[in-house]
Amino acid sequence: MTSGPTPKPWIAGIHAYVPGKSAGADGRPLVKLSANENPLGCSPAALAARSEAVHPSLYPDGDSTALREALGAFHGIDPARIIMGAGSGELLYLAASAYAGPGDEVLFSQYSFSLYDIVARRSGAEPVEAPARDYGTDVDAMLAAVTPRTRVVIVANPNNPTGTYLPRAEIARLHAGLPGDVLLVLDQAYAEYVDPAADDGSLDLAASQPNVLVTRTFSKAYGLAGERVGWGTGALAVVEVLNRLRGAFNVSNEAQAMALKALGDQDFVRHSREHNSAVRARFVAAMEALGNHGIRTVPSEANFVMVLCEGLLTGEAAYSGLAEAGYITRWLPGQGLGHGLRITIGTAEQMDAIAALLRDLAEAAR
Ligand SMILES: *Cc1c(COP(=O)(O)O)cnc(C)c1O
Repeated sequence: MTSGPTPKPWIAGIHAYVPGKSAGADGRPLVKLSANENPLGCSPAALAARSEAVHPSLYPDGDSTALREALGAFHGIDPARIIMGAGSGELLYLAASAYAGPGDEVLFSQYSFSLYDIVARRSGAEPVEAPARDYGTDVDAMLAAVTPRTRVVIVANPNNPTGTYLPRAEIARLHAGLPGDVLLVLDQAYAEYVDPAADDGSLDLAASQPNVLVTRTFSKAYGLAGERVGWGTGALAVVEVLNRLRGAFNVSNEAQAMALKALGDQDFVRHSREHNSAVRARFVAAMEALGNHGIRTVPSEANFVMVLCEGLLTGEAAYSGLAEAGYITRWLPGQGLGHGLRITIGTAEQMDAIAALLRDLAEAAR
């Protein structure tokens, strides 16, 4: 007997993605503020489209034609330059595996999305982390980390898990400093939460440059995380390459129908953005009041806030104290963030409760 099939050597280095928790060890339901889901749910029009979606026995439109046309019309993009994914995560995998492999490097920032390490390794390439500055992407450090082996650079803007945001000029400077044969992937999963006046220009770069791929998703502000719909846009040549690699029917009937309605309901997206900024500002102010306990937040443009515990209350104690009270947040010691908690912005009531709990925990830790 042999010992069975052997996976490619680079697979051994992958640690499976750890999703945000939703239930306690005892099975008790918890308030889940660990996965950046929309506390307002999704558009009622999208919800109604679920029951109207075509029969499950039929394959979906493999090209998601109506959805790509609607996205193209809304964002001013030729639909031929739009690719749909089963979540934008699928597109990140495709981009890395199409342009990087064994012997190559995939570059991203310290304290960025944990999936990037997995997508780099899955393609056989080496993940390379550039040091962050103030918990955010440091363009100079990123450019300094580029080598002749760098094939793909991935930047989340806003960044997950820290919420930091690079302005348009910094994204442009990063692109301008990269060799033309390096693919720059701009992961804009949280773009809809950013004030439109602060747009980072990613879509303009994707439209005008041969080496930029922008990824976006219906999982966050559109509130369709469970339906798995993401999209990407870049030069036609890049989109054509990724289209050859994606699953033939990667977005289900129901997901296409719901995303189409969700896109049409921009009032819901605006409401989600406004709700998020108001509740986030209130929560950040409550954390500022805990400054004397060594608690502070990283400035965030996303639907979550990284709370740093640098006083007597440790990140671990804050995490377990909130969990005991029924609030699950994201504690990321494996990413060098053991002193921080990433907390999704929930409802105003939930965030007020969390702020009060953190105050009590900090006072008790004296
Ligand atoms: C949530 C998230 C995604 C989106 O994942 P989907 O596969 O579209 O659900 C992508 N990038 C970042 C940084 C995220 O936080």
